[in-house]
Amino acid sequence: MSMKEYMDQAENYVLHTYNRFPIVLDSGNGVYLKDTDGKEYLDFGAGIAVYSLGYHYPGFDDALKSQIDKVLHISNLYYSVPLAQAAQKVVKASGMSRVFFTNSGAEAIEGAIKAARKYAFLKDGQTDHEIIAMHHSFHGRSVGALSVTGNPHYQEAFKPLMGGVRFANYNDLESVKAQVTQKTCAILLETVQGEGGIYPATEEFLKGLRTLCDEKDILLILDEIQCGMGRTGDMFACQSYGVEPDIMTVAKALGNGVPVGAFLLNEKTAQSSLVPGDHGTTYGGNPFACAAVSSVLDIFEKDHIVEHVRDIAPYLEEKLDGLIAKHACLITRRGRGLMQGVVVGNGVKVGEIVKAAQKEGLLTLSAGSDVLRLVPPLIIEKKHVDEMMEKLEKAISML
Ligand SMILES: *Cc1c(COP(=O)(O)O)cnc(C)c1O
Repeated sequence: MSMKEYMDQAENYVLHTYNRFPIVLDSGNGVYLKDTDGKEYLDFGAGIAVYSLGYHYPGFDDALKSQIDKVLHISNLYYSVPLAQAAQKVVKASGMSRVFFTNSGAEAIEGAIKAARKYAFLKDGQTDHEIIAMHHSFHGRSVGALSVTGNPHYQEAFKPLMGGVRFANYNDLESVKAQVTQKTCAILLETVQGEGGIYPATEEFLKGLRTLCDEKDILLILDEIQCGMGRTGDMFACQSYGVEPDIMTVAKALGNGVPVGAFLLNEKTAQSSLVPGDHGTTYGGNPFACAAVSSVLDIFEKDHIVEHVRDIAPYLEEKLDGLIAKHACLITRRGRGLMQGVVVGNGVKVGEIVKAAQKEGLLTLSAGSDVLRLVPPLIIEKKHVDEMMEKLEKAISML
């Protein structure tokens, strides 16, 4: 069938909640994807910061296949070897104390919210605790996660949402302090805001929040769903600030394409929050998902993926800065490691660049209303950066 026929078939049956690009992707290889017509794309979107090891990383497929040959799912009524191994590895990598595996990012946020509320409940017996979240944040589409997502456009039609949420300005410590009350149980933020437009937290802000939380026994929840797993040049972005959260959420790159997320608690929170009966999921942490997590973390360690991000990121930054200097429609760059955003303006819309790049065989993303987002697989080499630059330059010159 032609791409057009596949697209029509999908549009006839899939609920229309996404305006998809007119491309039917079919297979991947390294940092490249192919559509059903055989056209090749250099992938600087990685399935939205998911495919950090690229397609068919040596050893990863084998780990999945050997788990398929054993068992995919057993429920959380029993133990499995992959669960035990993945849990130990992710706890070790994060510096946290306990993990709960979920099936998505939104579910990780849901669990984090419940853990924070339970912690506060055990402290004072009250049931009206509040969470402070940030404007322009993104934490997912389920009702709880949507309630802490500071974007009225996503929320409007779905009210009433979960109560007890107050919003503050990102990177503005005073605005957070102004929202603290006796009822505040947690402060929730992305260490680097992703969907909102690639805004890294300032060191002053993150350290200030940690101090504020310590003073008032408020839990600090860091959402590392997009910026975690090596993307910023540290295993988790907060590690470069020297700030330890009480609760951390992870997903996207955790399974390198296998749907899996997690929330992690430090010892203090783990000791005094969720207990048997409080939380659960049928699929969460099943042997297949955990085999993926385990393999991903093994590869990160064995092949020094985080170190590679640190090596290659300055090259990408330098090249992007050169491009920004040359084109009036590219205004400035923000980001850390291989999570980069280029602000687009002067009469050009970011969507036009994304589409023109696709024609040139380059996949990119947008973020916020005007940011070109580059979140390539973490295994890119200089030659891929060069190829991306060539294609992006061509795309911009065609506008
Ligand atoms: C993608 C994302 C989520 C939601 O994850 P889903 O798997 O889509 O539910 C939450 N937080 C951040 C920072 C994200 O980037």
